Amino acid sequence: MSKLRYERPVIKKLEGGMPNKFGLRSEIQPMPTIDGNSVANLIQDYGSPLFVISEKTIRSTLKKAKKAFETQYPRVQFAWSYKTNYLNAVCNIFHQEGSWAEVVSGFEYDKAIALGVSGKKIIFNGPEKSVEDLTKAIQNDSLIHIDHLDEFYTIVELAGTLKKRPRVAIRVNMDTGVYPIWDRFGFNYENGQAWDAINKIMHSGKMELIGLHCHIGTFMLSPSAYGIAASKLAELTLALEQKFNHEIKYIDLGGGFPSRNTLKGSYLPGIDTNPTFDDFAEAISTALLNSNFRKDKLPLLILETGRALIDEAAYLLGSVIANKRSSTGRRNTILDVGVNILFTSFWYDHKITPAQSFSQYTEETCVYGPLCMNIDVIRENTELPLLNRGDHVVIHNVGAYNLTQWMQFISLRPNVILIDTNEKPHLIRERETLDNMNNMEKIPDYLVKIN
Ligand SMILES: *Cc1c(COP(=O)(O)O)cnc(C)c1O
Repeated sequence: MSKLRYERPVIKKLEGGMPNKFGLRSEIQPMPTIDGNSVANLIQDYGSPLFVISEKTIRSTLKKAKKAFETQYPRVQFAWSYKTNYLNAVCNIFHQEGSWAEVVSGFEYDKAIALGVSGKKIIFNGPEKSVEDLTKAIQNDSLIHIDHLDEFYTIVELAGTLKKRPRVAIRVNMDTGVYPIWDRFGFNYENGQAWDAINKIMHSGKMELIGLHCHIGTFMLSPSAYGIAASKLAELTLALEQKFNHEIKYIDLGGGFPSRNTLKGSYLPGIDTNPTFDDFAEAISTALLNSNFRKDKLPLLILETGRALIDEAAYLLGSVIANKRSSTGRRNTILDVGVNILFTSFWYDHKITPAQSFSQYTEETCVYGPLCMNIDVIRENTELPLLNRGDHVVIHNVGAYNLTQWMQFISLRPNVILIDTNEKPHLIRERETLDNMNNMEKIPDYLVKIN
């Protein structure tokens, strides 16, 4: 038997609480205020349910991410992923902090332009870009990330008719050791599609190939996958330089870093197990710095991080509608928060904390939403103190994807407020009304009267 190599032990602070032999401790603290505002007052002023976004947290999370990358790599640029949360106020906080815009549809592209983002700072991703969208993007000198060859041929044609040199990158998909591979977007690295696309672009002479892009997955728990992705894009960059004497300006590694949420089925809370910005920055910058770029030729590193930058900044406040017992005796609590506005409850065990003080007794509880739908479950099983009708709760880490994927279903979507850095609340999206909904509908004349 050979002698095992010595490995230095690592001491790591657990923030979610130590598990004991029965599982995780259930010592929850009440959360009566958010950034200095009382939850009860916010609900009184703006209704329940209510989305609350903390500007302080957005800015501090982005600063943390920037610091992690900028201390390890000299040239870093963040681009805000619109589909993660495209409320105008939220986008503009990111733009004020220097983030570019990353969009995946004509609608999102127009939104960024309407907010005043310079065309040159808009990254246009995704498989669906109409001729009209591409025309706009070419005229505005935006960064078009080509997804498939049909798009490439359209851009070749448009370059001719518009007499412009479009600025393009290709999206590359690849094996990073995390399966299943996301190979439906862009061009594959291993089977040579990506190199084919690069050659077609270079020989067309019609466009400026300025970057290489990948977005390998979402809620990725493996920093090393990013190291592999960065090395593969670096290989392509160097091959381009060798064959065409052409210099790539940026390598864009997309998004996909996990937030502090807990995936369903995890034993420990995400806050203790998910890798941090530092872990990803280390893997990516090491791969780029160790590849064969000359010192003065290091490409700009672009990151399109979405969920990791916004999840923790938003809370969803709700109120207890009722308590009842299931046929098996389990305690069921019904909230006024449904899965129609909390889409991510299908993937995450969202932390729920009462907004008021409570006694020491807790009980395993199933938390339901208000919809008349069996799937409307916010938490299947969580240890909660006894809540009464009218009590308030705070649901944590809801900033990513809920405010874009929410749907008007059975009930109307609620108000969204932003608490600014001076702890002042602002209404940033008004709750829907029946009029809003009816304004989009038309009734044929013969159906107007029902009697
Ligand atoms: C959705 C998306 C992102 C953001 O992903 P997160 O997992 O939220 O970080 C970034 N880039 C592209 C191309 C995307 O489609």
